[in-house]
Amino acid sequence: MRMERTLSIIKPDAVGRGLIGEVIRRLEENNLKIVALKMVCMTKAQAQGFYAVHKERPFFDSLTDFMSSGPAVVMVLEGENVIARYRELMGATNYREAAEGTIRREFATDIEKNVVHGSDAAATAAFEIAYFFNSFEIVG
Ligand code: GDP
Repeated sequence: MRMERTLSIIKPDAVGRGLIGEVIRRLEENNLKIVALKMVCMTKAQAQGFYAVHKERPFFDSLTDFMSSGPAVVMVLEGENVIARYRELMGATNYREAAEGTIRREFATDIEKNVVHGSDAAATAAFEIAYFFNSFEIVG
């Protein structure tokens, strides 16, 4: 068994559309344990830092504008194999390719405005969690 933590973000599109409760309900329904949670309003610079791995991508400017366009909810999830389990629940980046029943398939409106973020590996999760939370803000 692999105990892991991952960073989840309910992106500004979803917060603006009143989907915080819906996303959290799905996390709880799927036994993805929330061990930290808060609301943030990223500046453009903070969004650029968070997505620095994508800085050469053509969509970097648009993505960081979007991520700094309004409040987002950031959470730490913890559990066995939680990185992959949460990515499965989110669905593919492009909601048109996401599996039926996934969060992105059901709620995303655009490849960019795709409702949720989830870390893709243990090393990125460690970076992303530390980007938003100090150890006192994570329970358990
Ligand atoms: P993720 O791990 O599934 O979130 O996907 P990536 O790490 O590849 O991309 C990060 C985020 O950038 C995605 O969640 C989207 O919000 C956005 N994104 C990815 N691909 C595109 C694209 O082709 N165009 C635009 N505008 N945004 C994209």
